[in-house]
Amino acid sequence: MSPPTLIDAPTSTTTAPVALSYELFPPRSDAAAVTLWNTIRELECTNPDYVSVTYGAGGSNHAKALDLVDRLQLETTLRPLAHLTCVGGTPEELNAVVNEILDRGVRGILALRGDRPRDGALPANGLQYAQDLIELIRRIELRRSAQFAAGKVAIGVAAYPMKHPESPSEGHDVEVLLAKQRSGADFAITQVFFEPEQYSSLVHRARRAGVTIPIIPGIMPLTSLRRILKLSELSGVAPSAALLDRIRSAGDDVAGARRIGVEATVGLAEAALAAGAPGLHLYTFNEHESALEVLSRLNLPRPSRPSLAAHHRAR
Ligand code: FAD
Repeated sequence: MSPPTLIDAPTSTTTAPVALSYELFPPRSDAAAVTLWNTIRELECTNPDYVSVTYGAGGSNHAKALDLVDRLQLETTLRPLAHLTCVGGTPEELNAVVNEILDRGVRGILALRGDRPRDGALPANGLQYAQDLIELIRRIELRRSAQFAAGKVAIGVAAYPMKHPESPSEGHDVEVLLAKQRSGADFAITQVFFEPEQYSSLVHRARRAGVTIPIIPGIMPLTSLRRILKLSELSGVAPSAALLDRIRSAGDDVAGARRIGVEATVGLAEAALAAGAPGLHLYTFNEHESALEVLSRLNLPRPSRPSLAAHHRAR
């Protein structure tokens, strides 16, 4: 018998750590910036894989979003994933923004269309879909590949456990996700969802259709009834009456409502992980308390990275 070769060597059986990421949005006031930076410092202690920074549809908060991305890179150990929307933008404008993001050293972009303007009108010469933006980013990446030492820009996209409000069907949404993968998407993050089966059903349908990229569940801490209702209105995803009743049952007991909300979120995240979720993306709303409470209950297997504080102490 010949000795085993590298080709015969068994592949590693250790499972990958669960990816952890957070969504932040650029602050709209000085007071909001103080809260955000407190949140950033608290979240930094959990060693997330990246934090995503939202971007207004039509580039409404362009400067603030890029400023936050810059500060995350310069002042923290966090790796930013910059959201970018293409709605209303011409190829020339978006070409400039993508280059600007890459010039700042960002190597991860969440490519989105963004919500249509209220009157529904989109400029005829603008990019129509997230898919167009992915293709634009890949063309720019190719032009600049020597600068990236032939490394890739990571492109994420949105995925929908419940039908996108403008889409004719959930089947169409999966076709769109597959098209985004074919155009160069590396991973997807889901819209909020409130029932565990909504995530597992999306993954099942997407895999059957040929989607192979990681589909990371976007989890919203269910600790604020007001926020749940607001987000449900914006995203078109309705929470179940049972969930709303559970949270309302706490009445004026704020701590009680929070306990119920954390419990429900932990259940949702555990179910997603049991369904094979490769990571969790927490919608923080720029507050750390709920996200950290949920995390402490989940006890995720995470790689231990050297901390900056330990590094400074050792020098
Ligand atoms: P697309 O994938 O382009 O889909 C938009 C619609 O067009 C869908 O109905 C789809 O079915 C249809 N469609 C797509 N491609 C085709 C095609 N080739 N042919 C026919 N129909 C097609 N919004 C912001 O403004 N800023 C943000 O920072 C932001 N972050 C987000 C982060 C996450 C994780 C998620 C899930 C959403 C986020 N959104 C954000 C919201 C998002 O912009 C909206 O949901 C938007 O309406 C659709 O964006 P999309 O990238 O999914 O668009």
